Order: sequence, then C-alpha cells, then structure tokens
Amino acid sequence: MKTILLSLCLFGSSGMFAQVFTGTPIQSRMQQLNEYFSACEVYALDGKSLHRFITSDSGSDRIQLVLGEKAFSWRLEENNMIRPETRGTTISNGEYVPLQFDRTCITYKAISETTGIESRLTITPTMIIGMLREKEDVYFLQPASHFLPDADPDWLILFRPEDQRTTTEGICKTPPVTFDIVNPYNNTIKTPSEIPGSRRTFSCLELEVAFCTDNRMYSDFNMDTDSMLTYNLTVMNIMEPLYDDFDLDFWVYDFFMVTSENVNDNPWGASLEIDELVDAFQAWANSYFGIPDIGHLWTGGNLYSDEGSGVAGYAPGNICDETYCLLESNPEVFNFYARLMAHEYGHLFDADHAEGTGTIMEPIIDDITCDCWSVNSLEDMWDYIEDAGCLQSCVQCPLTYSIIDYIGWGDWRYSALDHINSTAKIDEEADVIFQSEGYVKLLPGFNATSLLNPEDGATFVAKIAPCE
Ligand SMILES: [Zn+2]
Repeated sequence: MKTILLSLCLFGSSGMFAQVFTGTPIQSRMQQLNEYFSACEVYALDGKSLHRFITSDSGSDRIQLVLGEKAFSWRLEENNMIRPETRGTTISNGEYVPLQFDRTCITYKAISETTGIESRLTITPTMIIGMLREKEDVYFLQPASHFLPDADPDWLILFRPEDQRTTTEGICKTPPVTFDIVNPYNNTIKTPSEIPGSRRTFSCLELEVAFCTDNRMYSDFNMDTDSMLTYNLTVMNIMEPLYDDFDLDFWVYDFFMVTSENVNDNPWGASLEIDELVDAFQAWANSYFGIPDIGHLWTGGNLYSDEGSGVAGYAPGNICDETYCLLESNPEVFNFYARLMAHEYGHLFDADHAEGTGTIMEPIIDDITCDCWSVNSLEDMWDYIEDAGCLQSCVQCPLTYSIIDYIGWGDWRYSALDHINSTAKIDEEADVIFQSEGYVKLLPGFNATSLLNPEDGATFVAKIAPCE
C-alpha cells in the first residue's frame, strides 16, 4: 500500500469574476509613430488601477483586457525572477558597493482562460509592457512614451512584432562550436511531439542568471538603474516561453551595473570588439561572480568584429563553463532583444546556427519568423541540457517522478470547485478525475505524472510544486 500526500489547489472557472480593463482608442499622433511602426494601434488604459488591482488583496487573479475588438481573459501568475537572495552591486570610487533595488514582483505569466496559452506581462506602478499571445497571433503592448517622450503616460501602443521597424543590425557572429554532420533534411520546423523518440523525461530545470550592464547602457537609460533592471527582467520574461520546449525557468541570482558614464569605469575595459570584450569580460566575471549557470553582458554600444561589421550578439562559450554572452541593448525594443537573448543563450546550450529555417538560431535575428527551434537545435540543446551537471531541478527536494498518462493512485473527483486545498492519503490504484480547470500541486514523495485531458474537454495544468 502506498501512502502519499497530495495537495490540490483547484481554480475553477465558475464563481470568480475577472476585473475588466478597457482601453480607449486614441487616433492622434499616429503620424509620428510611422517612424517606428508600419502599423499599430494606440489605447489609453488606466494602468495605475490595473496595477492596484493585481497588487491588492482582492482575492482574484483574473483580468480581462479589452483593446478594440480584441479581448484577453487571463489568470495572472507571478513570475518573479528576483528572489530574496538576489544580489545587486555597483562600483563607486573603485569599491564594490551594494545596489539598492526593489524586489517586488513586476513580471507575470498571463494564462488564457480559454486556450491555456501563456502571455507575459510586466506591470509596474508606472508602466505596462506585454507580449500577448492568442493562438497563432502575437502582439506587443508598450508605453507610447517609449517612442513619443511627451505622450500621456497611460497611452499604450499595440502592435505585431513584425510591424516594428528596428534599426539595429541584428547579426550574430558566433562561430560553430560543435562538429555536426549537416543533414539538410533535419533543419525543418517541427514541434517536439512530432519528432520520433524525442519524448524526454519531464524535468523542470532552473537557470541561475548573472548579468551586467555597462556604462553605455547606463547613459542610454538616463542613469536609471530601476529601469535597467525592469528592462532586463522584461526581456527575460518575454524570452522564457521560447524555452518551453526545454522546461527551463530563469531567475536572476546576481547582477552588476556600472553606474558611471565613463567608459573607463567598466571593470572589463572599454573595447567593443567582440573577441577582446568577451575575453576581458569572462576573466572579470568568472572571478567576480564565480561560475553561474548562464549569464550576459548588456552593452549600449555597438558591438563589432575585427572584420568591421556590426554585431548584435556573441556567445562563444557554453553554460556551466564559459557562461557569458554579449548582447546589445535598446531601451525601446523588447521583441528583438528577447529573440536575441534566446538566440545567444541557444549557443550557450550548444546550438549552432540554423540558416534558412526562420527559427530562433537564424544568424540574422531579423530573419527569425517563428519563435521556435529547428530539429537540429532541439536535439543539440536537449542533449547538452541533459548532460549539463550544473543545473538544478526546479524542485529542490528529493522527488522521483516520470511521465505517465494518469495519476496512478487515488480516488478523487472534483467538479466546478474554485479552491481546494486538501491533503490526503491515497491508497491503491484508481483514477483521479478533474471536471473543472485546475492547478494541481503535488508534494514531494508523490510519484506523478502528466495528466490526461478530461473527457468533457476541460483543460488543466499539472506541475510539480516546490517543497513546502
Ligand atoms: Zn548566433
């Protein structure tokens, strides 16, 4: 007889109402936005009341965002990439000193009530930034003041990423790091479930990220360290879903910001030539941070290679070892830089360029047309991640589990219940049936599972929870 503790939290779809936030269409100033977008819409939205609602103790985590004919109904989940142990540091008069920063969660997962598709939001008292996903469509939401400095702070621009005009030369100069026999038939786009034999053990891993910002970025962000941190967290939050195929969680465990506009105050020197910079930066960062799982240096400058051409990113190493990549930054652009970060991190996970596929490992970031990976990239990265010894499980406790298509023990039946927190012993074999959308938390010791969709078509999410 097995004795197992199972704790369930079900958030059913009945009995809780979403708070509705509706944007008012704005037609003025569109001419000035032509410089930045080939097409976009502008809405006035009361961002302060949205922020108040989600940070209040209302008991509801549901919102509906209505922008013109589009309505997004979400359950919001905090995705705080800052933890109590996160350290921030700067340099002052040659001394390393702690950097004061706000640890309040500003990054969220927004899970669709109807499709389960995940969008991502950054919500601060003064700003909303979003990557909104709806079936095949992706939209971005960004303050108009990023482009029109005197715009009303409540104005938001809604646009498709392909309609944003970027001026960055988006080339990655990373050379091949692995020897692969090139199979041209393999560079097609498939989802993992379509690849024979590719089903991997469910195993959420977390990535400790260390990052730095240089003096040039400090100037670009008007010497505002809070907005540099918000920028980094927003880009990471938007990038994270691009790693859903690998079930990776990213969080910032350490960061270092140069708070001087003088290029000589970068402890890794002044060069922007990629080989010089990466060598100097790796040497400094390895001695300062130790070796984190993965990391990056943001620069507000223009990276270049000694061949003279423009470069947006560079990642010559691998995670758990030479763990750092170089990324150009731009305070106003998020989609491009989330893709750039996903791409350079891809190299650190041992992926090579996948030219002509339209996938994340395209050497020219502007050629990425799908936030997905080629089969070669998936296989290379899965292999590398499975072998990487430095990564920790998201579940920081002894737990064995494997994917099966049902919960193997228990006799539990729930229907249309909003919140259940229960702990129970489960004996012998039985099915567990969920009749409403729910979120299942499994405590350590439970030998669990992915779950079948219930017959009535309702969906739910099952996750292994951290130790409690
Ligand atoms: Zn590359």
